[in-house]
Amino acid sequence: MLAELQQLALAGAPREICGILFGREGRVVAYRAAQNVAADTLRHFEIDPANLIAAERDARDGGAPILGYYHSHPAGSIRPSRTDADSAAPDGRFWLILNGQDAAAWHATKNGEIYGRFDAIRLDCSGAKGQTAAE
Ligand SMILES: [Zn+2]
Repeated sequence: MLAELQQLALAGAPREICGILFGREGRVVAYRAAQNVAADTLRHFEIDPANLIAAERDARDGGAPILGYYHSHPAGSIRPSRTDADSAAPDGRFWLILNGQDAAAWHATKNGEIYGRFDAIRLDCSGAKGQTAAE
């Protein structure tokens, strides 16, 4: 899965790409690309609310729960930015950040060590498959 996401990140550069991760207990079973609806997609990402609603619906309808989100930093570090920290709820979800080459996962939590919001964490992405919204 990571190789596929890195390809998407490279193809989307210089814009940030984003999507939703499904799974349980730190293990991703599926990912789904989402529309980046940020005003400035060169520097930020915002998952299309319609994509989020569809993902929540599919999870409720028996799919795997939403585990977190991924997005790319085409030009840089795989650490969360200050903006990422400001926009992340301390909801225990995982944030996967990629730059086309490297990737790192972060846990959105209260009192995280990075900007008070994120802790570094391991995320098992082996075997996760891409999917599209259910019809
Ligand atoms: Zn970011």
